[in-house]
Amino acid sequence: MSGLLRRVGVPARRRFIQQTLRNISLAVLGLAGGATVLKRRRLLREGKCLNLGICRNCAVFADCGLPRALSTRSVLARRRDGE
Ligand code: SF4
Repeated sequence: MSGLLRRVGVPARRRFIQQTLRNISLAVLGLAGGATVLKRRRLLREGKCLNLGICRNCAVFADCGLPRALSTRSVLARRRDGE
């Protein structure tokens, strides 16, 4: 093993280590993103708000079924219709 590493050379070893670290970083980022998505879904399923009740800038406003979002959507539709 050490003979193999010695034959490969320093630049190749450095490239291997960089690629390994890069792949590990990408895997960690992917897992963190997946965990965030799963946490959002779980909170919505449990009926908990994701954005402190500020629906206007919420990322899930269009699909949210919580009472606050339904009320906001209703108000916006009434304002749009001119009532
Ligand atoms: S849309 Fe409104 S009620 Fe739904 S998660 Fe976002 S802020 Fe909370």
